[in-house]
Amino acid sequence: MGLLTGKTALITGASAGIGLATAEVFAREGARLILTARRLERLDKLSQMLRNDHNAEILNLRLDVKNKKGVESAIDSLPAEWQNIDILVNNAGLGLGLDHIKDGSPDDWDDMIDTNVKGLLYVTRAVLKLMTPKQNGHIVNLGSIAGIEVYPGGNVYCATKFAVNAITKALRAELLDKNIRVTTIDPGMVETEFSIVRFKGDEQRAKNVYTGIDALTGTDIAETILFCVSRPAHVNINQVVIMPSQQASTAYVHRKQK
Ligand code: NAP
Repeated sequence: MGLLTGKTALITGASAGIGLATAEVFAREGARLILTARRLERLDKLSQMLRNDHNAEILNLRLDVKNKKGVESAIDSLPAEWQNIDILVNNAGLGLGLDHIKDGSPDDWDDMIDTNVKGLLYVTRAVLKLMTPKQNGHIVNLGSIAGIEVYPGGNVYCATKFAVNAITKALRAELLDKNIRVTTIDPGMVETEFSIVRFKGDEQRAKNVYTGIDALTGTDIAETILFCVSRPAHVNINQVVIMPSQQASTAYVHRKQK
């Protein structure tokens, strides 16, 4: 028996980084998984591996969380045996660029706001239609320390994560009498594809972000999510702020010299 045997979890952004690691850890613990992302071919590869390694039961969905109608129809038309969702991990998200606002790209702003804020809302609303009647569930939102403190160039990304924090708090209050727990995980630096996306494929620039730092891994975050969702029913972990040991805030980072 795993910690999540008999539970069904839907994870957004499971094709890379934290979402992918969460899929691995949840599969190891016996969860049935609905894995979603835009890159279906990556999900297919991942689920093949998880079926082989853990005998996991998995449904893959190609889903762009920015697509309001697409999200609604994908969740509304889940096969009956996949509608009983116990855990939603709202992980899909991105940062784009580090420009100051005066030089910023409004298209990138739209993309971040549409994905990190509106996308999270669309998925949450659709899944709550299934979770609320059964009066049981757990929603885990991926915030960030960027949702607690700002940094130059972080502007709009920080604003989206501040919004995630506000949405998380409101949801927790709204769902108190529905027996649905709400948690936010707020990581510092996690080495994933995040910086590659932020710098639009510039791998060297992305690598420099983590130079001299033992950054967190997707698995560190996935194990933290597992801890939160496997507490007894009367326990809700509201918020976890987690950073590498060499990071104290968005501004204070100690880099080892070579
Ligand atoms: P990542 O490696 O780039 O993975 C991001 C995931 O989000 C991918 O699976 C991507 O899948 C998915 N995604 C992006 N846009 C999407 C969309 N429109 N629709 C559906 N899926 C979408 O980054 P990560 O570090 O794992 O980030 C995961 C979450 O953690 C994000 O919310 C991020 O803000 C947060 N976070 C990261 C860090 C960090 O340092 N890495 C720190 C704090 C918080 P597709 O491209 O296949 O759709």
